[in-house]
Amino acid sequence: MSSSDTPVFDIQPNAAPVPGSEREARIADPGFGKVFTDHMAVIRYSEDRGWHDARIQARAPVELDPAAAVLHYAQEIFEGMKAYRLTDGATALFRPDANAARFKRSAQRMAMPELPEELFLESIAKLVEIDKDWIPTMEGGSLYLRPFMFASETFLGVRPAREYLYMVIASSVGAYFKGGTPAITIWVSDDYSRAAPGGTGAAKCGGNYAASLVAQAEAIRQGCDQVVFLDAAEHRWVEELGGMNLFFVMDDGSMVTPPLKGTILPGITRDSILKLAQDEGIAVREEAYAIDQWRSDAESGRLRETFACGTAAVVTAVGTVKSTNGDFTIGGGGPGQMTQRMRQRLVAIQRGEAEDPHGWVKRL
Ligand code: PMP
Repeated sequence: MSSSDTPVFDIQPNAAPVPGSEREARIADPGFGKVFTDHMAVIRYSEDRGWHDARIQARAPVELDPAAAVLHYAQEIFEGMKAYRLTDGATALFRPDANAARFKRSAQRMAMPELPEELFLESIAKLVEIDKDWIPTMEGGSLYLRPFMFASETFLGVRPAREYLYMVIASSVGAYFKGGTPAITIWVSDDYSRAAPGGTGAAKCGGNYAASLVAQAEAIRQGCDQVVFLDAAEHRWVEELGGMNLFFVMDDGSMVTPPLKGTILPGITRDSILKLAQDEGIAVREEAYAIDQWRSDAESGRLRETFACGTAAVVTAVGTVKSTNGDFTIGGGGPGQMTQRMRQRLVAIQRGEAEDPHGWVKRL
């Protein structure tokens, strides 16, 4: 698509926005994913017209025919990112170009049309601009942005749909962990796999999350915070959590993280940590790490720390791992030095408090 036929956003402000005092009350303690803003971004796609009808409009329900393809064959992808205030008061996004690129890759895997990156970025910027008063002012508060796309064509044949809707909604969210960042406990899923070689593990599609819910529910029943998935073929290699990537910190100061071979999500936080580690001369190996090795390294002390990372919680220590083979604790069971250092480095860059050598923070 050339820039001349890129649709221009039609801005249609909400005629009845939530009154300021009510908005302030809602964003005072928003939790996660419950408080929504006044607007949303919408762009339509059809095979004959391409991307068209881009607009910012009042947030409203979507009307779908019961035969809309997404309801049957689950052609749906999404992204997750945050708009937040810098220490100097400006509004910013963290590496939105990386979300735009991942959204395109997810679309390719799901046989969906690719949304041009400039349209993705503009939809985000325009929505944040109109709804910026919904960014909570409390420490750690942000506007969680959820771009998504689904097959809206009314057709029951099994083939890639010919019509899609792309939308962005925004939700005021509080700090992920109130009162500090504890270490989490995770459950090793024996019975369930998240993604198989050749499958959709590297795409951010709703189906991956549908498949992970029963395992996540089992983790909660076992008294854990999150599930950790092993590879589907051998059930031996540690892959990722339901919504975060993993890093293992060794006693020589080096780190290991599972490689991107198509079965795990290429996390933007994971990539940022790889680059920060490289900047600091910390050796990181992207290599397979076995569950038995994890246990024996934790027991011998060769493994000092394990942390999980993702947009929502940034960097979180993994303290205890539970499984049908018994439990083990990592290091002292709390956040170790490297975990805290990586977290602080990333948070300082995100907030505009530290130098941003890679140009990750985009001021709006
Ligand atoms: N893995 C999965 C399965 C996820 O859902 C997420 C959250 N998007 C991540 C890893 C972390 O990715 P990111 O750092 O881009 O948030």
